[in-house]
Amino acid sequence: MVGIVIVSHSARLADGVVELAREMAGPDVAMVAAGGLDLPDRPLGTDAAFIAQAIDQAWSDDGVLVLMDLGSAVLSAEMAAEMTPDERRSRLVLCEAPLVEGAVAAAVAARLGDPLDQVAAEARGGLAGKVTHLAAGAPGPGAEPGPHGQTEAVGPELELRIKVTPRLGLHARPAARFVQTVGQFDAAVKAQNITAPAGPANARSLNGVATLGVQQGHEVLIKASGPQAAQVLAAVRELAERDFGEPPEAGPPGASRPGPALRPQEEAAAAGPAQPQAMTPATRPADGTVLRGIPGSQGLAVGDAVHLRQAAVQVPREPAADPAAELPRLDAALEATRREVQAARDSVAARTGGEYEAGIFDAHLLFLSDEALLDPARRGIREGRNAADAWDSAVTEVEGEWQRLTDSYQRERVRDLDSIRTGVLGHLLGARRGELGGPGIVVAAELTPADTAGFDPALVRGIATAMGGPTSHAAILARALGIPAVLGLGPDVLAVPEATRLLLDGDQGSVQVAPSQADLAAAEQAARQRREAQDRARQRAAEPAVTADGTRIEVAANAGSPEDVRHAVDAGADGIGLLRTEFLFLDAPSMPTEAEQAEVYADLATALAGRPMIVRTMDVGADKPLPYLPRDAEPNPALGQRGLRLGLARTDVLLPQLRAVLRVAASHPLKLMFPMVATEEEVRAALGLVRQARRELAAEGVAVPAEGAMEVGIMIEVPAAALTAARLAPEVDFFSVGTNDLTQYTLAADREVAAVARLGDALHPAVLTLIGRAAGAADAAGRWTGVCGELAADPLAVPLLLGLGVRELSVGPRAVAAVKEMVRATDLADAATLARQAVDLASADAVRDLVRSHAVDDVTC
Ligand code: PEP
Ligand code: MG
Repeated sequence: MVGIVIVSHSARLADGVVELAREMAGPDVAMVAAGGLDLPDRPLGTDAAFIAQAIDQAWSDDGVLVLMDLGSAVLSAEMAAEMTPDERRSRLVLCEAPLVEGAVAAAVAARLGDPLDQVAAEARGGLAGKVTHLAAGAPGPGAEPGPHGQTEAVGPELELRIKVTPRLGLHARPAARFVQTVGQFDAAVKAQNITAPAGPANARSLNGVATLGVQQGHEVLIKASGPQAAQVLAAVRELAERDFGEPPEAGPPGASRPGPALRPQEEAAAAGPAQPQAMTPATRPADGTVLRGIPGSQGLAVGDAVHLRQAAVQVPREPAADPAAELPRLDAALEATRREVQAARDSVAARTGGEYEAGIFDAHLLFLSDEALLDPARRGIREGRNAADAWDSAVTEVEGEWQRLTDSYQRERVRDLDSIRTGVLGHLLGARRGELGGPGIVVAAELTPADTAGFDPALVRGIATAMGGPTSHAAILARALGIPAVLGLGPDVLAVPEATRLLLDGDQGSVQVAPSQADLAAAEQAARQRREAQDRARQRAAEPAVTADGTRIEVAANAGSPEDVRHAVDAGADGIGLLRTEFLFLDAPSMPTEAEQAEVYADLATALAGRPMIVRTMDVGADKPLPYLPRDAEPNPALGQRGLRLGLARTDVLLPQLRAVLRVAASHPLKLMFPMVATEEEVRAALGLVRQARRELAAEGVAVPAEGAMEVGIMIEVPAAALTAARLAPEVDFFSVGTNDLTQYTLAADREVAAVARLGDALHPAVLTLIGRAAGAADAAGRWTGVCGELAADPLAVPLLLGLGVRELSVGPRAVAAVKEMVRATDLADAATLARQAVDLASADAVRDLVRSHAVDDVTC
């Protein structure tokens, strides 16, 4: 265990800090106080010899961390370090962390057996909680444990750090599971977002947890105290390990993407018209008008418009006539709403046969008992407000917290809160939502999950809303119930007269008003063709993809987890074109060993039954800190020490991975690939490490693939690599273009920033030019080029990429069948002509138009 020395001008202060830290971390932490001077008339000061003695006393082979207060304490500590024997010096850290907070954090880390650098990192981060708390001003909803249902903090506080893996972060469903899990234990629990500082918040409050703004990859610090502190943290860890109960492919159609790819709302932004921010007055659309929205749930529907109008709710603001009666009225309305939500939950669970969609309602149930809402509402009533006014004001206040979140998906969850507001107000004021008049296509400004859950697919043929997006819970439920839906159509859809015939296309995201017979017939035929093409694609998914002129193109799958590899096999992939190995590192509390890695690679290779797999070495950076690899924060992680740069700086991490891959490659068709390559020197250094790993293993008598038998390639995702591809190609066996990063670096548009998502369009001629340059250079050197970025899954891009010289495509498992069909419909000579024209165009949109004008009719995508 790392030892800790506390240096202070005051002996009493040093002793007090030790006492406090021991109280938090346990009595057996090796902590020694070195405070004050041994002079009766001058007790305040520091003494290097005294500190050196304390270091000696605290010494362990794991090293010693010294924390000090100010001024001469630092100088004395430095002198004490000079006095420490040379062989110990490298394991002695003088740490600049704040004395009290640093000591507590360090003591807890040391007690957990963390190594010296980790203990020092913990100490340095000791102020984070306080800074976040005070800098954020008044605590938000649920920021402190409320008086209800909270366990008094007793004994030491325990901590757990978790990395949030669900693709959409801790949005309503996973946040609800988190809160429910915490609620089962007798412990006071607080959660804090460390990555985007927010909190601490009461972990029993859904509003508190959800408004921490936790997104995928964020780190959350959970502190628990009380009789069941250890149990609650174990349960939370287990929940986090299960991705908070989120299925890997949750989300709107096509949104399943491993890795930090576009998020659904960005896809929608890139693909469809903007959401109406405010409803401008609508005009009645003329017959035949096609309204464009966002695809919410697939399928074609024809039916008469049935408006679901919400009765306007006027919340009375007058004081309560009988204040004593208002509290029970509120409780009764909450209870009635709870019964409705529970009924909707049960109905969805029964109709979808699963818990996932039904889980949407768990967040609603939690809202109904969340002290962050109930406390202010009850307080308002006690202060003289009527129940409706007090409830409405409490919800509005909490909604303000949600609106401040930066993540638009999470911000959209405010609609769930609004749905509960309306439900409770409906019971208090007798204003209920409109009932459906009969069968048809439901038209509404927006739908709540409860509305959607109540729809009978036999009556509701389709859903058309003015607002909302593909990630709204109403859309998720529509998909689960198999009701075609188009969302975000704008206000004009509300001006369509009742009983007007509508033609709704949930795949294209359009609604045609009063279509002609010819329009209906054409739409039905197009839908039938799409379905047939999809069936054909699925049936032939496992067959090879051969272009119309006879060239075999490998269509592989990207995988970011063992489940992805299994999905890839089921989807008919020819192999794995990109194994993102980050999952091995990001989810582990300590560095995975060579043996552990080799076991995973061997299992995956076995599951692939002879299909090839390209293993990409770890691609993490400062944006994805690893607990066992502490790194300084970087202002621009995308431009910092990530991918191969980190691997070359930390060969203690990269070499075991290379050795593990080589071990497995001796008996399975594995290929190796390096990410984030910018220069020739990096390639040479990486290949040198591969040689070193091979030599070491051979010397140890371990079987390795024959020289040249395992292909080694690099990702082309930095413009410099694409531009110097002619120099790099002879060094390696293949290129794989990472269009996600290549696009962000070429157009200087951060792939994580929604505001520049449109700019970061991989079909931009500049990106295509770089791909063409790399593929051309590879071909000239007798090497092959693949594409493993998202662009490979874009049906419009397939002929372009093939035309640019790409001969392997690696895509998300769900896109394999469609991409193979696109390949089969492509003639390489035509594709080359198309690509030549595309690189000369002015914009991504122009490229899209060009490809569409050459589209092959019977291929679906
Ligand atoms: C890419 O950048 O296109 C790529 C495939 O790598 P990742 O998305 O994992 O950064
Ligand atoms: Mg990349």
